[in-house]
Amino acid sequence: MSFSLRFGTVGSPKATPPNPGGTVGGIKYAASIGLDALELAWVQGVRVSEATCMAIKQAAVENGIALSVHAPYYINLNGDEEKWPRLRKYLIDAAHFGYLAGATDIIFHPGTYFGRPPEDVLKVAIPRLQGCIEELRKDNNPVILRPEISGKAAMLGSLSDVLEMAKTIPGVIPCIDFAHLHARLGDGAMNTYEEWTQALDLYSNSLGKKALHNMHIHLSGINYGPKGEMNHLIMEEADLDFGNLFRALKDVGAKGRIMCESPVLEVDALKFKHMWIEVSGEGNSSK
Ligand SMILES: [Zn+2]
Repeated sequence: MSFSLRFGTVGSPKATPPNPGGTVGGIKYAASIGLDALELAWVQGVRVSEATCMAIKQAAVENGIALSVHAPYYINLNGDEEKWPRLRKYLIDAAHFGYLAGATDIIFHPGTYFGRPPEDVLKVAIPRLQGCIEELRKDNNPVILRPEISGKAAMLGSLSDVLEMAKTIPGVIPCIDFAHLHARLGDGAMNTYEEWTQALDLYSNSLGKKALHNMHIHLSGINYGPKGEMNHLIMEEADLDFGNLFRALKDVGAKGRIMCESPVLEVDALKFKHMWIEVSGEGNSSK
C-alpha cells in the first residue's frame, strides 16, 4: 500500500547490516523495515563514482525507495565572489552524481547573511541559484533544487527566503525543515496547529497548491537556545508537537516525503510513519 507521504532517513539507517553495507545496503535495509525513501548524506563532499551511482539507482528501483541527496554543508549562496565558483561546484556535483544515482531532489543549506539584510542577500543568492538551475537544465538534468529552512536566525533560509527563491526560479522548491522552523527564532514559536497551518497556507499561496503535493520535509526533535538550533533530539525528548503537525499536514492535503534526522534515524522515522497512519487514517482504507 502506498501512502500520500513517504518516510525515510537522512543518511542510511543506523542498523544497516555491514554486508553489503554502504548506500546499497542502506536502501535494502530501509525497505526491509518499511521505509520507502532515503536521503543520501553527501554532506562532507561528493565522493562517489559513476559505477556506485548506477548500483545505488538500481537498488533504489528494485526496492521501491525514493532518493534525494543532501548536498555538502559548504554551499553558501552568499559566499564571496572569488569563492563562489568553488562553492557552487558542491551543488552542481551533488546534482550531477545525485541524478546519476536516481535522486530526484537535491537538498542544500542556502548559506549565511553575514550580517546583511535578507532582501540584499537574496539579490545575490537568487541569480546565483538561477545560474545553477540553468547549467543543470543545459546538461539535461531535471532534479529539483531544494534550499532548506535553516535553524538559526543568522542563517539565510527563513521560510520567506526559501519561498522567494522558489517563487522566482522554476525548478527550485523549498525543503521544509519543521524542526528548524520551530528552533529558528529561539522563542519556542512555530509549535501549534494554527502556526503550522498558516505556514503551509503561505507555502501553497506562494507556490500554488501543487507544491503541497510534492513536499520535501525534514523532521526530528530539536534543542534550541536564543540563537536558534543547537542539536537534534529524539522524538520523546523534544518539545515539538508532532501530533498536531501531522494533523496540519493532513488538513492541507500534504503529499511527498518526510525525512527523519533524529539521532536514532529509522526508529523515529517509523514512529513518524505510524503517527501519520493514525492521523491520516490511510492505513484503514483499502486503496
Ligand atoms: Zn540539512
